[in-house]
This record gives sequence, C-alpha cells and structure tokens, in this order.
Amino acid sequence: MRDSDFEACHLTVRLGAIAENFRTYQRLAGPAAVAGMIKADAYGMGADFVGPALAAAGCDTFFVARLEEAIALRRVLQDRGTRIFLLDGAPPDAVPALIAHHLTPVLNSLAEIAAWNAAAATARRSLDAAIHIDTGMNRLGLPGEELSTLAGEWKTRLKNINLVLLMSHLASGDEPNSKMNDQQLSRFRTALAMLPPAPASLAASGGSFLGKPYWFDLVRPGIGLFGGAPQEGGKSMKTVAVLTGRVLQLRRIDSGQSVGYAATFRAKRPTMIATVAPGYAAGIPRTLSNKGVAFAAGKRVPFVGRVSMDMIGMDFSDVTAKVGDTVELLGDHVTLEEVAALAGTNAYEILTGLKLPRHYTDAAS
Ligand SMILES: *Cc1c(COP(=O)(O)O)cnc(C)c1O
Repeated sequence: MRDSDFEACHLTVRLGAIAENFRTYQRLAGPAAVAGMIKADAYGMGADFVGPALAAAGCDTFFVARLEEAIALRRVLQDRGTRIFLLDGAPPDAVPALIAHHLTPVLNSLAEIAAWNAAAATARRSLDAAIHIDTGMNRLGLPGEELSTLAGEWKTRLKNINLVLLMSHLASGDEPNSKMNDQQLSRFRTALAMLPPAPASLAASGGSFLGKPYWFDLVRPGIGLFGGAPQEGGKSMKTVAVLTGRVLQLRRIDSGQSVGYAATFRAKRPTMIATVAPGYAAGIPRTLSNKGVAFAAGKRVPFVGRVSMDMIGMDFSDVTAKVGDTVELLGDHVTLEEVAALAGTNAYEILTGLKLPRHYTDAAS
C-alpha cells in the first residue's frame, strides 16, 4: 500500500486539461502568443508541475508575482530561453537575483525603470524589461504623469533597457458590457503611441474573449487555464481541479437532532448524516456551512451544519453509501464557479486556498 491509499482527501490536478485550456487560448487569440500566468503557485495547482506541463504544450512565456516563484520556476524549467516575467518588478534589492536567474521584471514606476537602467549600465550590457502602464486599475504600473515623463525622456531613461513588452491590465475583462474595457483599451493605445515600439499585451483570461482589438501581441490568461470561467456566462473551460474526500462515518439521526458546532442544522425528519473529509483547514470555505453541495453515488448531496476544521456533515438520506466511499467536493459535477458563488467568493480564492495532498494526471478529463 502507498501512503496515498490512506488519504482521506486529495486534490487531483489534470495537467492535460491545463494544456487543452492553453490551446483554446492559442486558437482564440492566435497569431498573438499565449503566456502562462502562474502566480500564487499556479493558482494553487503547483507551479513545479504546471510550469513544465505548459512548457511541453508549447508555452514559452510565463508570469509570476514573487521573486522566489520566478527563481523556482527558472530552476524547474531549466531552459534559459523561456521568458519569465516578474510582476513585482525590480525593487533595488532584487536586481542581482533578477540578473543572475535571467528573469524579466515588469517595471511599475519611473523609480524602477531608473534602477533597472542603472543596473544595466553597471553590468555594461542592455537588460530586458517589460513596462506596465496603469490604464485605470490604479494598482501597479506607471500612472499618467509618469507615463508623460517617460514619453518625453525615453531615449535617456530607457537607454540601457531592451523593451520586450508594454503591458496593462483590465479591471473588468470578465464583464463584456463594462464601459471600462473600451476606456482602458483606448488609454492603452494612446500610451503605446507615446513610447518606442514594442510588443504589447492587455488581456488576461476574460479580456481575451473581448475580441481581436484586445489581443495585441500576447494574452496572459490565468484562471481560464485552471478551469475558471473567463467571463460570466461565457465559454466554459476544461475542469482542472478535482477535490475528493472520503466518508469517515455514517449515522442516522432522529427528527429534531442537530449536526455540528453551534447546532445550526436541525433535522426535520430522520436523516442519514455522512461525515466527510476535509474541512476548512484544507480550504473548503466555512461560509459553505449549510450551503455547500457535494456529489456522491451519482447524486448531489447538501452540506448540513457548520463546516468543521477537517470534516463536513452532509445529508445522505437519498444516497446509498458506506464508510470509505469517495465524495466529489469540486470537479465535474460540483463546479468551481458554483462553489465560489455559494461560498460568496470567486474561483481564484477557492483555488488558491486549497491545501491538501495533490495528485497529478496527464488526463484532460
Ligand atoms: C493575475 C493577472 C493576470 C491573469 O488574470 P486572470 O484573470 O487569472 O486571467 C494577467 N495579468 C496580470 C497583470 C495579472 O495580475
């Protein structure tokens, strides 16, 4: 027996589905290139596995948020030719590591541009970089006045920088009817016209579905690669994350009896209660208490009572099951979008919050 045979719950990550979702973006936005956005440990799916799987599918450009993620990704990919962009940019103390590991910072301010330009001068070579222009998100990137300054002085400010990408990020790319998309697109076009020519990128998972004007040279999907719906009510992607737990115990309770902490569920009839692993310690939101659903023995079963740290109560009155049976908490029958909506959050927070043993399969379904 392997250790995993004893596991009460685990997450299966379908690498084949990630590759198919990647190809869906290639077909959609080609000839624009598709980058793999694999920040937050590949949205909780494990960058050490997802990075190589995407590379094998033909992905040669990646984005991560943190320096340590970028260094780890360079290590697993080995191939120096693969482009790894760092969204956090180039704070002065990160500059030596960026250069040593052949990482490309996404420069977010004039100060970062100055530091990177100076580092290149010291290294007596030109250094690659992307520049992030803020077009309305008011998060990272050059704000309007810094853009104007750069536009007037780019010959000196970018003297030692090899500009490989000009990028911006949409606030509402998942909402096709939002007026912000158009506004940001036109601000981005204006910014591009002010700066030296370089490849450009605006769209993430949702924005890619806004059509050709949004594609430019590179699209940067994240959540869509991992099975999240890119736009509300839009195309659905292949399911990547399948979370299963096991029935730990079954018991019949009488009408009037309660289940779980604070007795928030009280049976209205004799009820078969299954106690199933896992609970909120593994990332099943506690807000799913008395709201969540699972899939067992071919039927949907409701959560009853509070989600506990390592287990959840479910009403199994309508299904035939035994201790040790497998229950799907997330996957083909209980979708990521459904779980996120019931929990009052989004698919991103659900995926990045999962903390349980991961199994990898090359399968796509
Ligand atoms: C996270 C992120 C993306 C990917 O967003 P998704 O909605 O997951 O596709 C793309 N670009 C930037 C700058 C991001 O921060």
